[in-house]
Amino acid sequence: RAKQAGRGRLSFFTEEMNAANRARQRMEVELHHALERGEFQLHYQPKQDAGCGAITGAEALLRWNHPRRGMVSPAEFIPLAEETGLITMIGAWVLREACAQNRRWQLAGLPELAVAVNLSACQLQRDELLPLVRSVLDETGLAPHFLELEITETAIMKDADLAVPLLEELKGIGVGLSLDDFGTGYSSLNYLRRFPLDCLKIDRSFVSEIDAGGSEGAIITAMIAMARGLRLRVIAEGVETPEQTAFLRNQQCHELQGYHIARPMPADALEALLRRERAAA
Ligand code: C2E
Ligand code: MG
Ligand code: MG
Ligand code: MG
Repeated sequence: RAKQAGRGRLSFFTEEMNAANRARQRMEVELHHALERGEFQLHYQPKQDAGCGAITGAEALLRWNHPRRGMVSPAEFIPLAEETGLITMIGAWVLREACAQNRRWQLAGLPELAVAVNLSACQLQRDELLPLVRSVLDETGLAPHFLELEITETAIMKDADLAVPLLEELKGIGVGLSLDDFGTGYSSLNYLRRFPLDCLKIDRSFVSEIDAGGSEGAIITAMIAMARGLRLRVIAEGVETPEQTAFLRNQQCHELQGYHIARPMPADALEALLRRERAAA
């Protein structure tokens, strides 16, 4: 009887795995078509100067408007896009779209900002990334310092010896480099010094620890001091409360990003925000 029950569980388990596999295969096929069908869209989340409150930049965040499932989170499909190699084409689309959009905003006379694009580890291939960045800047007419690339610590550390020269070449082109999700990976401080970065993005998990009056902010305080010591700009991501905002301002964090400042939004909503900012100036 026990044996029977065991077998039952096993076949149930296999069925479940098959279902999961089918769902995955289906999503892979759909992901293939998503680009050509125009189902991808970029949302933009503002970055704010902690001192004057001006919008200094916007991070492009990929959205998949799935015909049946509605908006699918990048957390769901980016890993699959990475495994299947589709991220190369999708990533190129993101870069082109974000730069073209930023250039359109500039030509419309809106306040200038840097657009930030997230890169996956597998996009850090010298022979592919450098020509791509060059040709996108060239095609769109965007000056390099209005583009920033966000790369996670983990992605760089996958092969730091290859990543460092690549980052140096990107920096040579004039684009900005940010270390995303800082604090969640394991790069030694020694490596940090070797990366030609412009900005550290303190991960949301540290920001959420900040509590009014508590000692939880100690790590952030140290991170900000270290970034400043290394002559890096520092931005806190995932700022959700007025208390966190006040604490970070007080600690001289350069920039803030998070739901308390603004949520990611479609391009036209950010454009409206920029127009209001220009009118107020
Ligand atoms: P990330 O680059 O660290 O982006 C920050 C994520 O946190 C975004 O999630 C954003 O919507 C969310 N967020 C921002 N402020 C807050 C806040 O105050 N509270 C909370 N709880 N969340 C906040 P999203 O858009 O779902 O993106 C998740 C991740 O997917 C990104 O993390 C990034 O690693 C990846 N991703 C997004 N777009 C792209 C892309 O175009 N290419 C690649 N390679 N990865 C992307
Ligand atoms: Mg990012
Ligand atoms: Mg991040
Ligand atoms: Mg993060």
